[in-house]
Amino acid sequence: MSKKALLNIDYTHDFVATDGKLTCGIPGQVLEDSIVDITESFIQAGDDVFFAIDAHEENDPYHPESKLFPPHNIMGTPGRALYGKLAEVYEKNCHLPQVHYFDKTRYSAFTGTNLELKLRERSISELHLIGVCTDICILHTAIDAYNKGFDIVVHRKGVASFNQAGHDVALEHVEAVLGGKVV
Ligand code: ZN
Repeated sequence: MSKKALLNIDYTHDFVATDGKLTCGIPGQVLEDSIVDITESFIQAGDDVFFAIDAHEENDPYHPESKLFPPHNIMGTPGRALYGKLAEVYEKNCHLPQVHYFDKTRYSAFTGTNLELKLRERSISELHLIGVCTDICILHTAIDAYNKGFDIVVHRKGVASFNQAGHDVALEHVEAVLGGKVV
């Protein structure tokens, strides 16, 4: 039987809140309830949930995002906190063995992390993606998942971007090029 897992990507203050440093704004904020529902349903089913959260150093001249985006999700700042009710869901469930949290420093949750090892250890083959931004961290994670042979499911009510056109292209790419499902 194929096992599934949820990747919960970057739904943090800086990416979602009105005063976040790199915010999706309203399109991100309206996802709050559905992101909570999807996350809770995976946890309650006993499926693994991985929180993959951007972590940057302040004034890092070597990081490629430094010349592309304003500083965001700086380690030790409130900007990295999970947004809204998702923070409570994490706090309530983080002691469970199927709930995982790790830092990532690039768009893809696979780059420089042990995510793939964790998935292979658990024989997980189907990855469900929610969070932000659709056309950046969600898409890059989906592309890596495709190349590594995982099946991909992106939840339409769980993803958003500050770039609506990019959001639409990314969802189309997941279906047409990565063979994933958008549900
Ligand atoms: Zn970043």
